[in-house]
Amino acid sequence: MTEEIEEEDEEIEEWLLAQGCCAHCEERMLYAEDSYSLSICSAKVSLLGLLFTPLLLEGDPYKSRMFDSDCWEGAEEELRESKADVPPILDNYAILDCGVCECGIREDELLGIVVHGEVHRSQRNPAGEAPSDTFVVMDDDPLILCISCLHTLDVDIVQDLWDFRIAQETECEEGTFARCWRHGCSADGQCKKRLEETG
Ligand SMILES: [Zn+2]
Ligand SMILES: [Zn+2]
Ligand SMILES: [Zn+2]
Repeated sequence: MTEEIEEEDEEIEEWLLAQGCCAHCEERMLYAEDSYSLSICSAKVSLLGLLFTPLLLEGDPYKSRMFDSDCWEGAEEELRESKADVPPILDNYAILDCGVCECGIREDELLGIVVHGEVHRSQRNPAGEAPSDTFVVMDDDPLILCISCLHTLDVDIVQDLWDFRIAQETECEEGTFARCWRHGCSADGQCKKRLEETG
């Protein structure tokens, strides 16, 4: 092909590039392409059904992440494979089940919501400011991930999703998988597993 056409292609590409990057391959996301967004929140039972509340912590340590569809679909498949032979921790107080490992999720426990949609250029763009991204949900059948799957995704599959290791309270890694806070273990930074290990 001629050089002229190649240059034109590059221009179109720049126009289509979102500000945000895919959490997995770190390439800029493309506007209006099939994408996924992962956000952390917790759920409560209300009269209207389940009420999801985004996690509001100082400094937003577990901020929402975006993925292009190839990266998310690959990561989800790896996650499913890694949990395939792990028996789920069922829980009588669970209000939700993880969509991957089937572990129960209790009220107020951290969980991930993965939604399918597209990144669009934000319509509200104050003069002089760089365009920002907004995620438009295309189907409202989200995938729910428990804290243990979020941890596996962060540590073994995607890596460095967040600046801090995901934890319900202050429990050790093993405590995150065992949900030790359910037994009063990790409140006040006193995870018994951690204490036992350090003697
Ligand atoms: Zn990617
Ligand atoms: Zn799970
Ligand atoms: Zn513990």
